[in-house]
Amino acid sequence: MSLFSDRTRQMGTENAFKIGPHILAAEAAGTDVIRLNLGEPDGQPPHWVTDTVIEEIKKGNTKYCDPQGLPSLRQAIAREAGQVRGIAIHPDQVCILPGGKPSIAFTQQLYCNRGDEIIYPSPGFPIYESMAGYVGGVPVPLHLKEEEDFTFGPDQLKELITPKTKLIILNFPSNPTGGVADMAQLEALAEVILSICSPDVRVYSDEIYEHILFDNHCHASIASVPGMEKRTLIASGLSKSFAWTGGRIGYIICPSIKEAMEFKRLNINYFSCIPPYNQEGARAAIEDPRSGPWMAEMALKFQDRARKVVDQLNGIPGVSCRYPKGAFYAFPNIHGLCENLGISDVLARMPGEKKPSPASMFQMFALYIYGVAVLDRGSFGTIGAENQEFIRLSLASSLEELEAGVARLAAAGSDPEGFKNFIEKKETAAVPEGV
Ligand code: PMP
Repeated sequence: MSLFSDRTRQMGTENAFKIGPHILAAEAAGTDVIRLNLGEPDGQPPHWVTDTVIEEIKKGNTKYCDPQGLPSLRQAIAREAGQVRGIAIHPDQVCILPGGKPSIAFTQQLYCNRGDEIIYPSPGFPIYESMAGYVGGVPVPLHLKEEEDFTFGPDQLKELITPKTKLIILNFPSNPTGGVADMAQLEALAEVILSICSPDVRVYSDEIYEHILFDNHCHASIASVPGMEKRTLIASGLSKSFAWTGGRIGYIICPSIKEAMEFKRLNINYFSCIPPYNQEGARAAIEDPRSGPWMAEMALKFQDRARKVVDQLNGIPGVSCRYPKGAFYAFPNIHGLCENLGISDVLARMPGEKKPSPASMFQMFALYIYGVAVLDRGSFGTIGAENQEFIRLSLASSLEELEAGVARLAAAGSDPEGFKNFIEKKETAAVPEGV
C-alpha cells in the first residue's frame, strides 16, 4: 500500500509558486533577488473595491452565503459579460469560484471520464496540463509556434481532435506568450469544433486577461460565434483585471443552468461558498463606471513596460522576443543565449537520463548567481517541450526593477565562465530537475 493515491502522483504544480523556496535560498545566500516570476499585477485594487469590502465586513456580511455566488454579483457578471460578447447570459448560468484557477480542475472533473482527451495550449498556464492526469484525462498539448505569433489555426486544432476529445482549452490573451486571437480566427476554430465534435464536447475559454490588451487589440471570445455559446465555458475573474489576486474572486459562465448547478455542487463539496464581502467588492468593481478607465490605464502601463522590456531583451545576444499583444508577460526565446553559455555541452556531459532543459539551467543560474527570478519554458507545460528554450518575465514590476532585471539577465548571458563555476560548485539544490 502506498501513502498517496495514484491520482496524487499525477498532479503537477505551478512553478511561479514552486520557485519561492529557491528565491528564499538565494536570498539567504546573500543574493538580492529581483522577482519577475509571479503573474501578479503591482499596485492595489481601486479604492471603490476595497472600500466596499471594508464596509461589508463592518456591516457584518461575514457569514455563509449562496454557494453559487451572490445573486447580485452573478447578475452583474451576466449583464456585463453578455453585453461584451453579444450573447444572452442568465445569472443562473454563472458560478462564482475562489479565483480563476479552480474552474480549470472543476471543468476537467465535471466533464472528463478516464481516458478522455484534453487539448490545451502549450506553452500555456501550467494548471491545464498539471490537473489533466489527476482527473484521469489524457493531456494533449497544442503547441503554439513562435513564428505564428503563438496562436494557431483550424488545421492545427483539427489534427488533434479525436473521438476521445472531450475538452478544448483556449486562452486569449495568453499566458505566457501574450498571444491574442481575432474574431476571424475564432470563427475558423469554431467551424472545426461545430462540424466535427459532438455537442457534448466543451470549450473552456480562459479569458482572465480580457481587459489587458495592447496596441488597440480588442478582446474576442469564441462564445460570440453563433452556436458556440452552447458549447463554451467562459472563465474569468478579478485577479488580473483589478490587481486583486488576494481577493480570490473568479467565475465560470456555463452554456446552461444545468451545468452551472454542477459547479455549484462542487463548490458545496469543496468550500461551501466564497467570502460574501469580497463578492460585494467584485460587484462594485464590475458595476462602477470608473472601472473601465482604471483598467485601461493599467493596460497602458503594461504596454509601455512591454515595449521597453522587449526592446531591451532583443539587445541581448542570443535572445529574440516578440511584443506581447496582451496579458503582462514577455516570453523571449533564449536558445542562442543558452548556446553562448555552453549549456548544451554541460548537459551532454551530465550523467543520467532525465536532464534539466537548458532554459531551466539558465533560470537557476540567473537566480542564484545574478539575482533575478524568471520562469523557464517547462513551467508552462512539459509534454513535447524538450527542445524549446524560452523564459517568462512578468511585467508586473516597476520599470526600474524590470530594466535592472533584464540587465542582470544580459550579464548572466555573457558569463560562460560564471556558468561553468556555478555547475562545478555542484550546488545541487540549485540545479533543476528534468523538464
Ligand atoms: N488562467 C490564467 C491564464 C492565468 O494566468 C491565471 C493566473 N496566473 C489564472 C487562470 C488563475 O487566476 P487566479 O489567480 O484568479 O486563480
